[in-house]
Amino acid sequence: MSFTELNLSAPVLKAVLECGYTTPTPIQAKAIPEALLGKDLIASAQTGTGKTAAFMLPALERLATLKKGPKGAPRILVLTPTRELASQVTDATRNYGKYLRVRSAVILGGSPYRDQFKALSQPLDLVVATPGRLIDHLDRGSLDLSRVEILVLDEADRMLDMGFQQDVEKITAATPADRQTLLFTATLDQAMTKLAMALLKNPVKIAMAPQGSTSLKIEQRLHVTDNLEHKQRLLEHLVTDGSMNQAIIFSATKRDADRLAQELSSRGHRAAALHGDMTQGARNRTVRDLRNGRVKLLVATDVAARGIDVTGISHVINFDLPKFAEDYVHRIGRTGRAGASGTAISFASGSDALALQRIERYIGQSLPQHVVPGLEPTRGLHPQPRRTSRKPQGGKPVRQQRTYGKTEEGRPQQRRTGNAGRPFGAKPKSEPVVIHRRSR
Ligand code: AMP
Repeated sequence: MSFTELNLSAPVLKAVLECGYTTPTPIQAKAIPEALLGKDLIASAQTGTGKTAAFMLPALERLATLKKGPKGAPRILVLTPTRELASQVTDATRNYGKYLRVRSAVILGGSPYRDQFKALSQPLDLVVATPGRLIDHLDRGSLDLSRVEILVLDEADRMLDMGFQQDVEKITAATPADRQTLLFTATLDQAMTKLAMALLKNPVKIAMAPQGSTSLKIEQRLHVTDNLEHKQRLLEHLVTDGSMNQAIIFSATKRDADRLAQELSSRGHRAAALHGDMTQGARNRTVRDLRNGRVKLLVATDVAARGIDVTGISHVINFDLPKFAEDYVHRIGRTGRAGASGTAISFASGSDALALQRIERYIGQSLPQHVVPGLEPTRGLHPQPRRTSRKPQGGKPVRQQRTYGKTEEGRPQQRRTGNAGRPFGAKPKSEPVVIHRRSR
């Protein structure tokens, strides 16, 4: 199928072709025709599959029939869980809508109110927003949602995870009941199904990938680590590897992200931190620096990294494993974007055995263990020998083993006990991998 078969109007088609897209991705091929017919959609698709265009192109088509609405009353509303994703969607809107005269506003927490009041005091076609600040504007009366024709909930599962359910319900209640709703989610668990039943009318279901599936273009590796110092030495080895173009390194806490970014910078790497405690201006600058290559290593927490779409990211490194198995899939989806291939490397020590087990069950495969000669772990995680590759990444073993001068004791205890998170929903494709901790 080609884009010309999708019945897009000339200005939208021209913009899409100028983006260099030749064929619609599978989610686009399925979602766009249904959305153009005005149907509600619930689409589950992996991150990086082209889902933004899947909802934005039909939304822009609606705007191709121009209507002059009143001030501060958009016809299209896109809700996203994070500011980064909202910025991403806004960029996509600009690209895909460049030949339409779309008046859009982005309403994000952490950004000055002044600009938002100004944008909302003018006629508007499209608003991209995070829920908290949008509610704020609704309460202040600076925004009118009574003319919304299409409501898009992007990464709706994440909005629920982040506790936005009530906000989403309040926002939807302020939109007309006969609106079209397009809901995109990576996971389809019970809570999501319930939300969908409440918000959608006879939705067309589009399931692009089974829950927990990961892209074949991303090579996944596990490095078993002994302690923090071992992780730091491995990290130093990996980031000096010639095959690494740009990497996102995930840490468990904001403080760890700052500390690790500082340590990497002090060792001469172009590194920066990205987390929710930074001002929006600083976050935008950092993402810009990543995009233009000024930053090579981004040390991030889960919330901040959501929505980052930078094609140069060749590696994702889970310096700390994520708390929730779903986040593993989102994290590694930061690499292997737009058809490129990528490498996702996870560090895990004995105390991570349970978290690792949950991830492996969720993605339905066990992560192949790699070792770097000279940096072998002294302890294992598994009772059975795992599939082990002794290929040195980047060639040579590290000769000079540097340390960052810190010990495991100096590190906050990681938060993972029992199955305190959400139900995973997906059944493991095989028997769960049994992971035992081995004492020395
Ligand atoms: P998304 O899943 O919307 O974040 O998109 C992931 C990446 O795929 C972005 O860099 C898009 O620019 C790119 N993309 C989206 N649709 C297509 C397409 N039909 N052909 C090639 N690249 C695309």
